Amino acid sequence: MRPIVIAANWKMNTTPADAGELARTIASRTREPGVTRVICPPFVSLAVVRDALAGQDVDVGAQNIHHEVAGAYTGEISAPMLAGLASWVILGHSERRAYFAETDEMIGRKLDHAVALRLRPILCVGEVLADREAGRATEVVDAQLRGALAGRDPETLAAARLVVAYEPVWAIGTGRNARGADAAAMADAIRSSLRALGWGDAADDTPVLYGGSVTSANIGEFLAEPAVDGALVGGASLKPDEMAGIVARAGLTAAARDRAS
Ligand code: PEP
Repeated sequence: MRPIVIAANWKMNTTPADAGELARTIASRTREPGVTRVICPPFVSLAVVRDALAGQDVDVGAQNIHHEVAGAYTGEISAPMLAGLASWVILGHSERRAYFAETDEMIGRKLDHAVALRLRPILCVGEVLADREAGRATEVVDAQLRGALAGRDPETLAAARLVVAYEPVWAIGTGRNARGADAAAMADAIRSSLRALGWGDAADDTPVLYGGSVTSANIGEFLAEPAVDGALVGGASLKPDEMAGIVARAGLTAAARDRAS
């Protein structure tokens, strides 16, 4: 059975002065058996959030790593620097693809470093609105998956427990979420892409999350889809009430899937 994962992407929000308290509040209000919780604060707050979450059964993730491990890359952070600070990492977020010119090739190299340093990757994929309207969404996502994963050993990536987040770009931070059925169809397409890349049964074991304007009001629509295993939550993840509602719903799903398995 695939785990239910709710991952919070705080983006460029919070400071080390307030991140610990926010993480503690969210942790205390989101205890649900069967739900894997991950909080991804800005780099400078990783240590304070790690300390605030000690003993809380909430994982800490980074929002990015550089595609090299060391060198003349002023201002950048590499995978080895996160040792002891994070156990997950978000890779290929559309904001990084759009504003920092990240390519699939770079994202593939980040993936290699994440796996080598035992950071569990959340690989983000998703189409822009023009692609969806032109009926090219699946093709675009397949190309992103091939660009980052082709030539990489499926067994190694599956052993690293890769998670894929389907995040349609037009739904991120816009208040316009996808429909649950669209997310489920894309989750199926993602697993087909993985199978075509040689993943075999590991494709079915790979969690696929939905991300894009998820709230406590719409999370149910996504979790009602058996193909969808949780959410990558941006804006709403800064609000404890929202996170409490989202994870409570995820807990119901985890219990129902457990009973059905
Ligand atoms: C995200 O940052 O991954 C995201 C999905 O943001 P939001 O929930 O704000 O759309």
